[in-house]
Amino acid sequence: MILQQITVLGATGSIGVSTLDVVARHPERYSVFALSGNTKVSVLAEQCRKHRPRYAVVMDDDTAVHLRGLLATLDTPIEVLVGTDALCAVSSDSEVDIVMAAIVGAAGLMPTLAAVNANKKVLLANKESLVMAGHLFMQALKSSSAVLLPIDSEHNAIFQCLPQNKHDLSAIGVSKLLLSASGGPFRGWSADQMKNVTPEQACAHPNWSMGNKISVDSATLMNKGLELIEACWLFDMPADQVEIVVHPQSIIHSLVQYIDGSVIAQLGNPDMRTPIAHALAWPERIDSGVKDLDLFDVSLLEFERPNFADFPCLELACESARIGLDAPAVLNAANEIAVQAFLDRRIGFTQIADVVKESLSNAIFSEPRSLIAVQESDTKARSFAAAYVSRIES
Ligand code: NDP
Ligand code: MG
Repeated sequence: MILQQITVLGATGSIGVSTLDVVARHPERYSVFALSGNTKVSVLAEQCRKHRPRYAVVMDDDTAVHLRGLLATLDTPIEVLVGTDALCAVSSDSEVDIVMAAIVGAAGLMPTLAAVNANKKVLLANKESLVMAGHLFMQALKSSSAVLLPIDSEHNAIFQCLPQNKHDLSAIGVSKLLLSASGGPFRGWSADQMKNVTPEQACAHPNWSMGNKISVDSATLMNKGLELIEACWLFDMPADQVEIVVHPQSIIHSLVQYIDGSVIAQLGNPDMRTPIAHALAWPERIDSGVKDLDLFDVSLLEFERPNFADFPCLELACESARIGLDAPAVLNAANEIAVQAFLDRRIGFTQIADVVKESLSNAIFSEPRSLIAVQESDTKARSFAAAYVSRIES
């Protein structure tokens, strides 16, 4: 078996750790080429010790010095590199076969695009890069020979429910994509009840263990809105053919409805190692370490309509999907600022939606024709949102 070289961007995060867990189960298939992290330097050092990559990438010089110190006693040298250019270099190196794009937020855009442009097999967890720059991202994909495999459990499920290598979904009789949503920790709560929730409550997801940012997004339902935009780009579907279905057990990860009345679903225990293993090995299948689904244990599968009124972030995301242009980039940037402000206890939970709403109202939307234009929309929205957070605070 040919050993495939993998770069894991965001190795120290929730998806990164799950990826390395799956990779370690298959030493005959995968070898780690590079790992990246940001603040969790001791976790990164431990991962380097275990997986022996050629490179480790961090985002600033002080962290690099710290990491080099922690790795000094290793017999095989690991080169520590710094910054976004280094992330792009380890994503596009000619020796790399697979890139796991699992950096959170807009910071993931450039290295993920670098992997696409270098024709890699790209495992996309970083949904924010598609939300920000979907048009440019898909254009880059089309003009490359890269293979893009969705890691987000819903999109990975949809991918699994479609025939292989079919790009025009209406031509193969797909009428609708049904996007599963757990409803998050506050399913059934009113906006009023959510006013005083804490970051700890918001990050305690009932079914999935994830990084803080996506956990808060799951609690506001912004995550489902970002995923709707992600689905539109990945599967070339208009937003009105993507329906959100709240399914609290998180066993059905999403479904595809066909014009003959068939609905095909992908089921499994809620563990990200399943979509990660699926994408790593695709088109083959490998063991992921996830325990078998026991339907008798599950016994009940429920479905509800989403509550747009009490979760305004979902409506705001759907609205920016309808507007198009750079509205999703503005939505994403404002949301990143607002979520961080909530995690820092500077604003309340329900004020996340206020920040995003104001940022969208303030923006004049335009077609983002280049990455520079996307970055400009992102920067402008971030500075407006940050100023609005300060105003709310005082
Ligand atoms: P985490 O917060 O757990 O991990 C994020 C990773 O990105 C960490 O390695 C972190 O480094 C690194 N990072 C953070 N900021 C920067 C930055 N500015 N520059 C470079 N690296 C940075 O997030 P998750 O693993 O939960 O999520 C990763 C992505 O996958 C997100 O886009 C999320 O939406 C998506 N996703 C996650 C799912 C999940 O189950 N967790 C499910 C579906 C999608 P460090 O920790 O060292 O600071
Ligand atoms: Mg998801």
